[in-house]
Amino acid sequence: MIQVCKSCVTPSTRPGIQFDDHGVCLPCRVAEETPQIDWALRREELTRIADWGREHTRLGYHCIVPVSGGKDSTRQALYARDDLGLRPLLVSCTYSPQQQSDVGAHNIANLIELGFDTIIVGPGPQKWKTMMKRAFYKYGNWCKATELALYSIPPRVAIAYRIPLIFLGENNAITYGDLGGSMGGDANRMKYNNTLSGGTPDAMMGDGITDRDVLWFRYPSDAEMAKAHLRVVYMGYFIEDFNQHTNARIAIERGLRVRETEPEDVGALNQVEDLDEDFVHVNQLLKFLKFGFARVTDEASQLVRLGMMTRDEAIDAVSKYDGRCHQRYIDAYCEFLGISVAEFWRVADGYRGASVWRHNPDGSWTLNADLPTAAFGRRPAEAQAQEI
Ligand SMILES: [Zn+2]
Repeated sequence: MIQVCKSCVTPSTRPGIQFDDHGVCLPCRVAEETPQIDWALRREELTRIADWGREHTRLGYHCIVPVSGGKDSTRQALYARDDLGLRPLLVSCTYSPQQQSDVGAHNIANLIELGFDTIIVGPGPQKWKTMMKRAFYKYGNWCKATELALYSIPPRVAIAYRIPLIFLGENNAITYGDLGGSMGGDANRMKYNNTLSGGTPDAMMGDGITDRDVLWFRYPSDAEMAKAHLRVVYMGYFIEDFNQHTNARIAIERGLRVRETEPEDVGALNQVEDLDEDFVHVNQLLKFLKFGFARVTDEASQLVRLGMMTRDEAIDAVSKYDGRCHQRYIDAYCEFLGISVAEFWRVADGYRGASVWRHNPDGSWTLNADLPTAAFGRRPAEAQAQEI
């Protein structure tokens, strides 16, 4: 039996999600309390954190803001500089040239153009690809490798340059109900979330990838963080209008370019998320196969919490678009990894959640009818992907 939040459309298959006795998920309950939040008090707390950053730096940068050039990181960088009066050093991890999208390249260049000093770290493409491939086979989630790098690089640079304050964006435990970390602004334990799983790349090493190759894939240990007095903070926790819509509006006003795709091609309602590369759509498809939900569930649930969508509209949206991924992205991903599309599906099918799918005698797959994604008699994602 799969439970679905009575208020939004988040299913119980989401790792870490908690439901109360009324069948409502934790992020929905947190959202209900938002009107009572004393934002002035939170702003004071953020000001004190900014002061701490000013006092504890050695080289003139008051904080590090990890950036991709997307809507959230653009907002974070601008907020740190223009609202908090800090001198941020931006830190960005580049994708390998085959993976980086044109719009992503534009957006990171645009953000730097807004007047920021930036350190760009680019792990070698061959190693990057090997790690991605292993994460795909081992976890059915290639992002486990790349997110380790995306999140480990900023604290590595923070330690190297002795800039102990790092500003991240949203706290995903609050926004999406992810496992691990805190329910407040403190992000020092974010490496224990579901994707980073402690922040070590050990499971993807061996066969030519040694300790010397994975500095940028290894999140600093608790001891290293304590020694460097690192303070990692979810900036979004302290800002009332830090959400996907306000961040997108502000970033677009400042030059962010959005994707020109259809929701049914990329499995996304808005075209301002995940802009820096296109394989992410394949990962969302994999997430859908595992858990029966993907990005549209997250987007629609958040819209319901913000009062911008009804639950019925959310069910309609997820049933039409969630887990959708155009064949061209699957083809490009397979070409990048050097595997056939048949091999991709062999591995992907192995990750289909047992509670999510029924394997029919004719070889087709049927989604669990408890899921909102199944509400309109949706066909299996594989068949959809191949029909397109
Ligand atoms: Zn909910």
